[in-house]
Amino acid sequence: MKKEIVDPNYKGEVIKHDVAKYVPETEYVVKVLERHVEKAKHNLKGAPIVVAGGYGMGSKENFDLLFELAKELHAEVGASRAAVDAGFVDHDRQIGQTGVTVRPKVYIAFGISGQIQHLAGMQDSGIIISVNSDPEAPINAIADYVINGTVEEVLPKMIKYYKANNK
Ligand SMILES: Cc1cc2nc3c(=O)[nH]c(=O)nc-3n(C[C@H](O)[C@H](O)[C@H](O)COP(=O)(O)OP(=O)(O)OC[C@H]3O[C@@H](n4cnc5c(N)ncnc54)[C@H](O)[C@@H]3O)c2cc1C
Repeated sequence: MKKEIVDPNYKGEVIKHDVAKYVPETEYVVKVLERHVEKAKHNLKGAPIVVAGGYGMGSKENFDLLFELAKELHAEVGASRAAVDAGFVDHDRQIGQTGVTVRPKVYIAFGISGQIQHLAGMQDSGIIISVNSDPEAPINAIADYVINGTVEEVLPKMIKYYKANNK
């Protein structure tokens, strides 16, 4: 949200509302007894590089390759909702309107078409690279670099290249 400039002379008015007038009793039928906060399993939100896979990844096994690339790049793995729904990867890695919002320095999208709900969670990334077999994929329109090819051919080559150059 946009930050407002503080006006030290501003005088507010305190209005005490009667909550019962606005919230019916039925709203209180569920009572929270305990809260358990789980430690985050990854740092998707804060990662400087995100490699994200979509439905075009085709399988859980191909996502394993994405994790391998992420290891080489010191990146985190994200996903589109279609990839999560297909069971390729856990829901907590979903990026977009109903997932997390990320703004990494580099975002590499593998097999992601770029629907508006996905773009909402990553379009402010620094450099966007799209790997897609369809040259007309909507995400290509906002990408800085487009690699036109299948994940099956491009991903192993990238892993091989970064493995060789990380040594
Ligand atoms: C209320 C609502 C909320 C939503 N929230 C989200 C959200 O938070 N996040 C989100 O991501 N989506 C969300 N969606 C879903 C969204 O509309 C899309 O359905 C989803 O983003 C599509 O995911 P995708 O790009 O992986 O799949 P697809 O649209 O199926 O695209 C697959 C892409 O992979 C490419 N491809 C196929 N095979 C290969 C290959 N072998 N190699 C390379 N490329 C290949 C295709 O050319 C295509 O571009 C939401 C939808 C609704 C209605």
